[in-house]
Amino acid sequence: MPESSVMLKAELVAIGTVAVDESVLSGISVSTAGPGTGLKSIFFRFNGHRVRLELSKDSPLTMVSANGAVIILKDGRELVRGELEQILAHCPEQAYITLSERCVYDCKFCTVPILQGDIKTLDEVLGIVERAAKTGKLKAIALTTGVAHSPEDEIDRVIEVVKALTQFNLPIGVSVHPTYDSSQRLKDAGVDEVKYNVETMDRTIFERVCSGRKGISLDFILDSLRDAVRVFGKNHVSTNFIIGLGETDECVRTGVEYLAKMGVIPILRPITIPQLRKDELEATRPSGERLLKLGMMTRELLEKYGFNVEEAQTMCLPCTGCDLTPVRDI
Ligand code: SF4
Repeated sequence: MPESSVMLKAELVAIGTVAVDESVLSGISVSTAGPGTGLKSIFFRFNGHRVRLELSKDSPLTMVSANGAVIILKDGRELVRGELEQILAHCPEQAYITLSERCVYDCKFCTVPILQGDIKTLDEVLGIVERAAKTGKLKAIALTTGVAHSPEDEIDRVIEVVKALTQFNLPIGVSVHPTYDSSQRLKDAGVDEVKYNVETMDRTIFERVCSGRKGISLDFILDSLRDAVRVFGKNHVSTNFIIGLGETDECVRTGVEYLAKMGVIPILRPITIPQLRKDELEATRPSGERLLKLGMMTRELLEKYGFNVEEAQTMCLPCTGCDLTPVRDI
C-alpha cells in the first residue's frame, strides 16, 4: 500500500483543478506559457510532492490561506496543507517556453491548433529566460513548440534558439515533433534531453486522435525515440503517454514495457479535456486509483530496466506537477 501522501497526490492530480481565493494568489504569478497553453494554473507543494492545479471556479477543491499556510479543502473539510510555489516561466525552477503557439496538425486533445497564437522571437525567449534567471531559482530551460509550418522548420527554429540559450550554462530540454535527424542536430546545438511524445501506445486510438499529423506515424515516433536514446542516453529521453483516451490498463503495461526496453521513460499524463475540444474528444480523466495502479506498475518496470529517473534534469520528470512521477512521487 503506498503512503498516504502519494494517495493524496494521486487524488489531487486526478481532480486537477482548484477554486482559489484571490487573496491566496497575491504575489504568485500564474502559469500561462508552455504545454497546456491558455490554462491558468498554480503549483502547490506538500509533504515533498508538487502538484499543478488549474484554476477553476467549478472545482470540487477550494484553496484558502490561514495563518500563513495554504490549505486545500474538499467538501468544506481540510484535505491537505502546504505552500504555493513561485512559477518562473510555466513551472517552478524552470523556464519552459512554447516557441510556436500555433500548429498545422490537429490532435484532438490539444488547443494549440484552435488558438493559433504567436511565434516568439529570439529576443522574447531570451527576455523570459533572463527574467527567470534573475530570481536565482532557475535550474533548467525547456522548449516546446507547435508546428507552424513543418516539423523540419520547427527543428531549425529550436536550434537557433538553443544556440543562443547555451550562454546560460543550464541544462536544456526540448519537446518537439521529431524529424529523421532531429536528435543529432539538437544534441550538436547544445540540447541535453528530449521528449518526443507517442501520446498513446494504442494504435487505433493514435489514428483517431492524431490522424491530422500528416506523415507522422506512431512507428516514426518510436524510431525517433530509439535514435534519441542512442544520441542522448538512457534517463534523458522521455515521452508523454496520455491516460484516459480509452486505452486499457493492459495496453498501458505493454506500452510502458516496450518503451522502457528501448531506454525511454514514459510519462503517464492524465488527459485534460479542453473546453474548446470537448465535443470532438472521447476521453475520461483517470481516477486517482487508476493513476496509482499505473504509476506503481511503471515504477516497477523502470526499476526492472535499470533507469535512474532522478538523472533527468529538464521538463516534466523533475517538475512532476502534472503526473505521479516514478521515484520522485511513487
Ligand atoms: S509536469 Fe510538465 S507539463 Fe506539467 S507543469 Fe510540469 S513541466 Fe509543465
